[in-house]
Amino acid sequence: MPSRASEYQFHLTGGALCLDFTNTRSWRRGSAPVERLTSYDDLVAFGRQARIIDAAQTRALRDAAARQPRRAARVHREALELRILIDRIFTTIVDGRPAARADLAALNARLAAVSARMGVVHNRRAYAWRDGEEGAFDRMLAPVVRSAAALLTSAELGKLRRCGAADCGWLFVDLSRNQRRRWCDMRVCGNRAKARRHHHLKRRRLGEKTKIKIKRLKRTAA
Ligand SMILES: [Zn+2]
Repeated sequence: MPSRASEYQFHLTGGALCLDFTNTRSWRRGSAPVERLTSYDDLVAFGRQARIIDAAQTRALRDAAARQPRRAARVHREALELRILIDRIFTTIVDGRPAARADLAALNARLAAVSARMGVVHNRRAYAWRDGEEGAFDRMLAPVVRSAAALLTSAELGKLRRCGAADCGWLFVDLSRNQRRRWCDMRVCGNRAKARRHHHLKRRRLGEKTKIKIKRLKRTAA
């Protein structure tokens, strides 16, 4: 299903689903963070764009949420709490400290709840994992929880990085061959840095030109 014209296009460049999920809060280390999950509808859009749910499930969830807005709002709140937890765990680790025990316990509680609902279903020709009942409002959160556990226990945790832009705060796994990725997304902070460098260079050149002009003026005035 093509996304809605007005729908925000999430940046799925974190290298792990759980990090893409935390990156739905933009500029979070600056003074004006931007929330990209403003509603349950946004959460569904994230699930669809991250390919956690398919087009039919997206439609079904949106219809169900329209009928049960309070239930949808509760899942939205749960999602934001989960995001805070995952962000805190990986931000602590990227800062060189071990995740807090309480945070790990909270993640494990989530993991236990998710696992209890998991199963295998037969969809026409193939068998597939199922996260909770068909139509469960929070079905897109289970893969996020599992992704956090998988990243914590994988060798890739050593490649966890934070974007080089001071106000950004987006996390990613550096899967580049030379391990020198600096930006969360070249299209976001990479381009900003490039534009800033260009701006400084231009200003410096302009400054030099002005100095020359002043010198000339002084010479003619003298
Ligand atoms: Zn960034």
